[in-house]
Amino acid sequence: MDRRAFLMTAALAAAGVGAMRHLPAQARGIPAAAFPELPRDVCYPGPPATTIATTVIDLFKIGPGPSSSHTLAPLRIASDFRNVLEALPPETLDRVARLRARLHGSLSATGKGHRTDRAVLAGLLGQKPESCDPAVMDALADAQKRHETSIGGKRFTLGHDAVVWDTVEHAFPFSNTLIMEAVDAEGKVIVSREYYSTGGGFFAWKDQPEAKRGAPVHVYGSMAAFMDVCRKTGKAPHVVLMENETAILGLDAAAVNAHLDMVLDVMIAGVELGLREEGLLPAPFEFYRKAKRLHQEALKLPEGERLMQLVSSYAIAVSEGNAAGRLAVTAPTLGSAGTMPAVVYLLDKHVRVPREALRRGLLFGALAGYLCKNNASVAGAEVGCQGEIGVASAMAAAMAAYATGASPEAAEVAATIALEHHLGMSCDPVGGFVLIPCIERNAFGALKAYNACLMAKSEIVSRHWEDFDRVVMAMLQTGKALPPAFREMGTAGLGMTMVDC
Ligand code: SF4
Repeated sequence: MDRRAFLMTAALAAAGVGAMRHLPAQARGIPAAAFPELPRDVCYPGPPATTIATTVIDLFKIGPGPSSSHTLAPLRIASDFRNVLEALPPETLDRVARLRARLHGSLSATGKGHRTDRAVLAGLLGQKPESCDPAVMDALADAQKRHETSIGGKRFTLGHDAVVWDTVEHAFPFSNTLIMEAVDAEGKVIVSREYYSTGGGFFAWKDQPEAKRGAPVHVYGSMAAFMDVCRKTGKAPHVVLMENETAILGLDAAAVNAHLDMVLDVMIAGVELGLREEGLLPAPFEFYRKAKRLHQEALKLPEGERLMQLVSSYAIAVSEGNAAGRLAVTAPTLGSAGTMPAVVYLLDKHVRVPREALRRGLLFGALAGYLCKNNASVAGAEVGCQGEIGVASAMAAAMAAYATGASPEAAEVAATIALEHHLGMSCDPVGGFVLIPCIERNAFGALKAYNACLMAKSEIVSRHWEDFDRVVMAMLQTGKALPPAFREMGTAGLGMTMVDC
């Protein structure tokens, strides 16, 4: 084996690509004969044989910023642990003297900048993500204050000492690990649960039983398989997706549409609120909001330049709100919460896309997100920023294309182009705050998304070689090959070079 072949094989092995179960390769792809010198063992093995059962309610979660993995998921985890405590027999709960959250990995490394401690306290105090007022999170900043709550009829007093910034290096299966513990007066653990924040506000725990949900009507694990379903059933993608949503969730289409409408409304409201707000964002250095100014200046620009800056201002408006702890939507994460809303706002206010078409577009955008989440990752701590802003851009591109009447194949190409041109992007937030580079990065994610949509709608789709499944696999491989310091540790790249020693 020559050096190039060895390096490629080693990279694939390191990414665990070879270990995945794969379906037979699809016909799409560049024929191997075009590259006779390439080793055959690194050719595309086909999309992974997974079954997508993620829904729009899982993917598009509403909660306070700034980070889905470091703020929203810890809040949801602490809220879940509160439920665990409430279900304890009274005699067991009576022995609990203290509650403790031990943060590991990137949660420990950058949790302070992401308000992980406040999120854990908010969840333990009974706050729910979708209704958690930013003022509540602000009030939890004071490390001297203690807060009363009743769990299962027992009174607890909680403060910042309930949060332990534990080991960054660890052997747990997920980087973002959070161990919730209820301990007695001697410090002995009575109940504990090992939770994992798996990106996009999702969480799981060790030995979690399989959730009881309906089975999807249409089985697919890749974009290629999804398109096959559409072709074989003769159904449009949004119909196939909606049939799966209702079957898995046990809801009717009206309820799913109500969630889609809530997502669209929160996104639009986030843009409009962010365009009104000014001043400093919470940070240990002077960091000013700029969306309002960018928007005002955009309106003075010549027509040819205006739209680009308007879209940037929309994305930055939502991202600044997210950094300030305002409610935002995980699309797919809160770090990337500005990308899709900017494109939604563009479609709604400038292109005048009707609400029904926006809903359909959102479903197709969700499809791109499902495939990235299930076949790679949407966590910056796992695959870098390509999994957050890159995936958000792909989702927004697919949404925009489908909502504006592109064919399913063109919508796939739009998602493919957008994701492809984020490959390799590391996650290096300065000081662990979702400010630099995150806020501006959302503007670029949105602009790339719309550019990808326009390109895909204008080209001859059958001549486009790259397909979504292959680019998702390339993202996974690239992400796994990124050094850990470039995966949300804040200890490399901009996270280091922006700081004067
Ligand atoms: S750099 Fe990207 S992945 Fe990392 S925190 Fe910021 S938005 Fe998220």
